[in-house]
Amino acid sequence: MKTLNLLNYAQDGWYQAPGGLAEVQSAVTGEVIATTGSQGLDFKAMLDHARTVGGPALRAMTFHERAWMLKDLANAIMARKEELYALNYQTGATRTDGWIDIEGGAGTLYSFSSKGRRELPNQRVLIDGNMEPLSKGGTFVGQHVWTSLQGVAVHINAFNFPVWGMLEKLAPTFLAGVPAIVKPASSTGYLAEQCVRIMLEADVLPKGALQLVMGGVGDLMDHLTCQDVVSFTGSAATAMKLQSHPVIARESVRFIAERDSLNASILGPDAGPGTPEFDLFVKEVAREMTVKAGQKCTAIRRAMAPAEHIDAVQEALSARLAKVKIGDPREEGVTMGALASRSQLEAVRSAVEELSKSARIVSGDPAASPVQGNGAFIEPILLRSDDPWGSDAVHDVEAFGPVSTIMPYRDLADAVALANRGMGSLALSLFTFDPKVAEEFVLGAGAFHGRMMILDRTSAKESTGHGSPLPVLVHGGPGRAGGGEEMGGVRGVTHYMQRTALQGSPALLSGIVKQWLPGAPKPEGDVHPFRKRISELEVGYTLKTASRTVTLEDVEHFAHFTGDTFYAHMDEEAAKASPIFEGRVAHGYLILSFAAGLFVEPAPGPVLANTGLENLRFMTPLYPGDSMRVELTVKSKSVRDEEKGEVRWAVYIFNQKDEVVATYDLLTMNRP
Ligand code: NDP
Repeated sequence: MKTLNLLNYAQDGWYQAPGGLAEVQSAVTGEVIATTGSQGLDFKAMLDHARTVGGPALRAMTFHERAWMLKDLANAIMARKEELYALNYQTGATRTDGWIDIEGGAGTLYSFSSKGRRELPNQRVLIDGNMEPLSKGGTFVGQHVWTSLQGVAVHINAFNFPVWGMLEKLAPTFLAGVPAIVKPASSTGYLAEQCVRIMLEADVLPKGALQLVMGGVGDLMDHLTCQDVVSFTGSAATAMKLQSHPVIARESVRFIAERDSLNASILGPDAGPGTPEFDLFVKEVAREMTVKAGQKCTAIRRAMAPAEHIDAVQEALSARLAKVKIGDPREEGVTMGALASRSQLEAVRSAVEELSKSARIVSGDPAASPVQGNGAFIEPILLRSDDPWGSDAVHDVEAFGPVSTIMPYRDLADAVALANRGMGSLALSLFTFDPKVAEEFVLGAGAFHGRMMILDRTSAKESTGHGSPLPVLVHGGPGRAGGGEEMGGVRGVTHYMQRTALQGSPALLSGIVKQWLPGAPKPEGDVHPFRKRISELEVGYTLKTASRTVTLEDVEHFAHFTGDTFYAHMDEEAAKASPIFEGRVAHGYLILSFAAGLFVEPAPGPVLANTGLENLRFMTPLYPGDSMRVELTVKSKSVRDEEKGEVRWAVYIFNQKDEVVATYDLLTMNRP
């Protein structure tokens, strides 16, 4: 392979550093495969470019427009994924490892794209929670909102997942409307650089949205402000160094960190040899040790089992590990490739040495070279610590490779305490079929772990595994794991936005959030709202219906027609005896049906279907003889594509005294 000349991408142009280049070696052969360097980059100018060009362009787009952009990026990556797989082997990764990185990365973009279109409005402001009434008369209210930060997201990424690690940060960043400067790890940055090329060549990103630093970050940190976010993945030492930068403290720059994590996996006390959970545990620990040669921030480093089963665990695990085929990841049948670099190999060997001072190696030889040549290959190493409370290293030293330590626990409380001794982790797994064990573990250990997978025979087949962070779930953990949070669906988007508590009149606030809020004006018109397309409907537009009386015959008829003869509708004495009713009441479902009868406009038109009700509350009983009327208000609207969109209607049902009988959101699918 000819040596790649890796370039930076700054201010919308490729930039070659004139000197200070570092060589990057293949993890498999040790040959130099690339040169990389960022000397001469003007970091302040890059930040300014992102702030003045990229940010405004992204913020001018709505969440949905940004979500479509993510989908286009994912499509571009998938269309050219083989270019990435070709480079992936050089990092020591097998095709399966590469799938997690490359297609897992694209999948994360797809997932955020879909979430963005489903869960975020086709607007630029995001509502957070419900309106808070702040005054008796309802003229002064509060509403939390999120708006895009006006700075730059600086992403400093780890070497282990050059594609996924970049995309899992870019997806929520772009969806939030924030430009990014990405700095991949030097040892595998060639894969990230190629992925950036693919994204840029797709020509869907606005100018200034994405820049790339292929080397040191120079004085970049000196120019950060409160509108910027640093999102870091890597070692605790680097995280601490960056986080203690005076500008980070002075400007309150947001700092999200994913760092070392001594993740634990626990065999439940009920899951002895012969149970499905025992087999699942052994399989998962072995898998986590060897996938990506154990270079996963979520990999299982500590495997805990009841003392009476630890020998059986050791035996079963060693047998599995003996079957691992180590070699050039391109070769057929190879199940574990190399570590990402020779220096990583040395780091893993020295961590194993540290661990073996208080734990013994029971499988694998760290000094062995399982593959001839200069590749960074190592055997999977299983250690055993019979006195886990007497060894600090097994809880503190992360060997970032195919290395794990098994250890016994006495009882569940001991297992919880050992798991928590990692002082904060990204992922924990528990193998149990006993709901009590699961509950006790979550209550005892939840606070120390960002994600917990509780696996049993019923969920194993469809499980996504201990080590897989998912775009829809939070990735991050307290303490040693960095204290940060990434992804987690829309939560991850808000990491790049500012929450502001707005106060003012319902009318003013409605105009800002593009959603009708209680107390805001309800303009009426001559045209029934069901006759208007989404584009013609204005937020707040209201239909006030005529009223109808609900009779005892109506209640009787409904009860016998539907079979709902609940006493409160049918038995005057029993209803009176209840603490809630003064006598027989109309069915809630009858009220809803009559409401629809009052507000629908029956002819075919722009409303295509009723897609559901949300937040339904019955507030005042409606007695036979009472009357009801409805106010139907356009609460919000969103166009999905050329054929359809969704209208959310605020529905209020009143009785003859103008008391609210029921309220709900009605969702309809409409023509745009
Ligand atoms: P580092 O912390 O050295 O590197 C992580 C990233 O930070 C890289 O992009 C690196 O760039 C960059 N970096 C390093 N120093 C600076 C600096 N002064 N200013 C700005 N950026 C900097 O970690 P490694 O990748 O070398 O991995 C070391 C260990 O970290 C692993 O053995 C493992 O224990 C842990 N790790 C944890 C992960 C997790 O998700 N929890 C993931 C990966 C690693 P460059 O490569 O150019 O130096």
